[in-house]
Amino acid sequence: MEHYDLAIKKLKERGVTINDIAEVTLFLQTKYVKGLTLDHCIEEVKNVIKKRESINAILTGISIDEMTEKKLIDKELCDIIMDDEGLYGIDEILALSIVNVHGSIALTNFGYADKIKPGIVKIVDNDGHNGNKCNTFLDDIVCAIAASAASRIAHYGIEKK
Ligand code: MG
Repeated sequence: MEHYDLAIKKLKERGVTINDIAEVTLFLQTKYVKGLTLDHCIEEVKNVIKKRESINAILTGISIDEMTEKKLIDKELCDIIMDDEGLYGIDEILALSIVNVHGSIALTNFGYADKIKPGIVKIVDNDGHNGNKCNTFLDDIVCAIAASAASRIAHYGIEKK
């Protein structure tokens, strides 16, 4: 569980809590699941983050954001990541490693959340365009976790809990 704890800690250091991600999941799934609560969303967000694919994507993505801020990457690439260039796309690809193990509902919700940018996604996105801050990978990771939790809720429902 030590890598799970580290992933949670790194997210928090970058301004994202489990609660924040669960709110996005609730936003995505509330109209489809009667009686869905934030607590249930929190539980499923934790279940998503526990998976090795998620932990690896969180730790890798946040590391790249941090290395970019510290300019530890070749300048040419650093500029691309810092500017969050629309055609870069590797941030979305990394986040797909989370989405890919949670089915098609995760995939469609991932694309939707990336477009709409609900709650913490918009905050992270705006924050990433502030001065020396870089959240190019983080925003996609948050969308991917929230969307994957939404998929778990769709598949497993809430009665069984
Ligand atoms: Mg991004």
